[in-house]
Parts: sequence; C-alpha cells; structure tokens
Amino acid sequence: MFDESKINSIREEYPILKREIEGRPLVYLDTAATAQAPKCVVNAIEDMYFNHRANVHRGVHTLSQEATDMVEATREKVRAFINAASTEEIIFTRGTTEAINLVAATYGDRLCNGDEIILTTMEHHSNIVPWQLIGKEKRIRIRVVPINDAGEVNLEEYEDLFTEQTRFVALAHVSNVLGTINPVKEMIAIAHKHGVPVLVDGAQAAPHIAVDVRDLDCDFYAFSAHKMYGPTGVGVLYGKKYRLNTMSPYQGGGEMISTVSFKSTTYADLPFKFEAGTPDYVGIAAFSAALDYINDLGIENIAAHEHALVEEATRQLLTIDGMHIYGTAAHKAGVISFLVRDINSYDMGLLLDKLGFAVRTGHHCAQPLMARYGVQGMVRASFGVYNTFDEVSRFVEAVRRVASMF
Ligand SMILES: *Cc1c(COP(=O)(O)O)cnc(C)c1O
Repeated sequence: MFDESKINSIREEYPILKREIEGRPLVYLDTAATAQAPKCVVNAIEDMYFNHRANVHRGVHTLSQEATDMVEATREKVRAFINAASTEEIIFTRGTTEAINLVAATYGDRLCNGDEIILTTMEHHSNIVPWQLIGKEKRIRIRVVPINDAGEVNLEEYEDLFTEQTRFVALAHVSNVLGTINPVKEMIAIAHKHGVPVLVDGAQAAPHIAVDVRDLDCDFYAFSAHKMYGPTGVGVLYGKKYRLNTMSPYQGGGEMISTVSFKSTTYADLPFKFEAGTPDYVGIAAFSAALDYINDLGIENIAAHEHALVEEATRQLLTIDGMHIYGTAAHKAGVISFLVRDINSYDMGLLLDKLGFAVRTGHHCAQPLMARYGVQGMVRASFGVYNTFDEVSRFVEAVRRVASMF
C-alpha cells in the first residue's frame, strides 16, 4: 500500500492532475478507459523523437540499430512482465482490439459451418464483434456463459456449454464494467480438458493484477499500453508459439516477409510474421518506460492500493439513498459501476463533470451486459495509482449532491 507522501509524489508525475474543470480540481476516475501517463512515459516519447528516431529492423546505421534494440528490449520486458516462455510469443499490435481481431481472423480461418465459440456475458464489444465477423460467412454459433446478479460465472454452467463442436473460448480476465476477476485459470483448464484453446482479454487485468501466462496456461492473451500508464496506439498479443506457428499472417507488408516474388512469398519467423509494416516504435519505447514505472511501484502494491480505494468507495456509496452497485463479485478489481434510483447515467455524468469528476457513463462497450441487468447504461468510477481516499470521499459527496437534484 502507498502512504500519503508516496501518493503525493506519484501525483507529482502527472501534470494533468493539476488541471481544473469548471473552476474545480479535476478528479480523474476514468482510468479503465485510459490511464493518465506519468512524466517518464512522455519523456520517453520526446527522447525517442529528438534522439533516436529511425525505422527498425532495416538500416545498418546507428540510429536504426538503436531503435531496433529498443523495440527488442521492450519485447523482452513484456515477456518478463507476463512470464511468457519466449519473446517469439510477444507480438506488438495497436491495442487489445487489434490483438483479438488478429486471432479471430487468422485462427478463425480454420472454423467451419456449425462450429461453436464460447464467450461470457460480460465481454467488451472488442471480444464479441471480431468473432461475429468470422461467423458471418460461416455460420459460427456463439454460446454465452451466463452470470449471476453479483457478476460471477458459474463453472458448471460454463462447462455445460461445451459440445463436440466447440472450437474456441474467449473471455475477459477482469470485467471493465463489473470489475469481476474471472477464475480464468480454472476456465482455461476446463477448456483444455475439452481440447479447446482459450484467448484471454487482459485489457483490465494487466494494469491492475499480476499476470502469469504460463501459470494461467492460456493460448492467447491481449492487452493495451494506454490502460497501463503507457502511450496510445500500442498493445500486445501473447500467443503460445506452437499456436502462432500454425496460423497464417494477419496483414501483409514489409517486416513480415522472408522472401517476396510475384509468384510466391515466404514469411518471416515469429514474432515478425504478425508485425506487418513499420511498428509504432516511438510508442513501444514509451511502453517500455510505463512497464518500468509499474515494476518500480510494484504491481502488488498497485493492486492493494486500488483494492482499498474500491472497498472504501463501495462502503461510502452504499450510504446514498437508492444506490445500486452492479458487480459485487467476491474477487473484484479497479472499477465500480452504479446507478442511483432511475437517474440516467448520462445526466449524472454531465453533472459530475461540472463538479470536476471525470467518470464514464453509458453502455461501456458492453451492451449485452447492460441487457443482462436490464439497463441502458451505468455510471462507472475507475481507479488508478494516483487516486486518493480524499478523492473517494469528495466523489461520494458529489454523487450524493447530484442525486438530490433529481
Ligand atoms: C478497453 C478494453 C478493450 C479494448 O481495448 P483497446 O485499447 O480499445 O483496443 C477490450 N477489452 C476490455 C475488457 C477493455 O477494457
């Protein structure tokens, strides 16, 4: 856990937290949508532009070598961060969305009419629509794991969905709306018992809890740098080497080839086979700084701090008349979604913004989940390393005040 002086020094790294909105100090509670970036990350971008900018894996000149070394050093840092077996299993993408689309498009090649995919009710649209896109042409059936009112899956109900036709499972590690930490290790073991590979959407897990892909034994794992105090435009797909080796390339272009002629082309080895074109090497350099930042603070300390904030916010919010919190799972991380009576989430969000509080409102890219709870939208407060208990108290008082206006 961080004490007050530690939090204060953390906050010094984020100039944006000194901003005022409508004359009031900004309280940023939308880290689950995008985390703010500390100075070390922004400095890394500037340093790359001013001192090392050059295309990677191409030039023999010094700058190109430096940029290449930096990208490959970051790949190793990512490997260590999630405990993958090899850097060949770490593919840089534009984000979680592109990582999932890559797997859906290339692994999806081999699916046939009548094959089935299992998803959960709480998936982000990024982990629903790519699977529907392959299903469009082929009549792939999507089967959905139900959840209870607390926002938890039941392992027996999940296992009941497996049939002879099940070919793939894709599920969120942590829900971006409910905060539920799913029992992914158990769910992966069940899928493997049925011979089915699993992709884990880790967009909300990688910033908040320790991830070990070898312990989980997942086949694929996807996450985004911008939710981890890093830059926009960079993400990661982890895939087991033998799985990636059997998949065809996603996009064609420079970088991903071995030899090209107009008759036939051979592809580069992993991971480059899946990295067509010039990568966002500036973003990758900044991601490296973000990983150092998280490692220095310690992911366990970050998790403990955020957990304490969520617990305290939950306790205080429940003192408000008509408060309904969605997502009360035993294992939860990072976010609280709620409604007060029948007050529209958008109206509440607008008024909270006038008081300086940045929250997310609406369907949170999870319309099937909204339908499950019978609502159009929710208000979501999400937390990061820089949030304080004082902000939590001020937020709860603001919600109380706004609620009293309706
Ligand atoms: C944010 C998020 C995504 C999409 O991430 P992008 O960075 O927008 O590609 C996918 N799944 C979950 C659970 C998310 O929170």
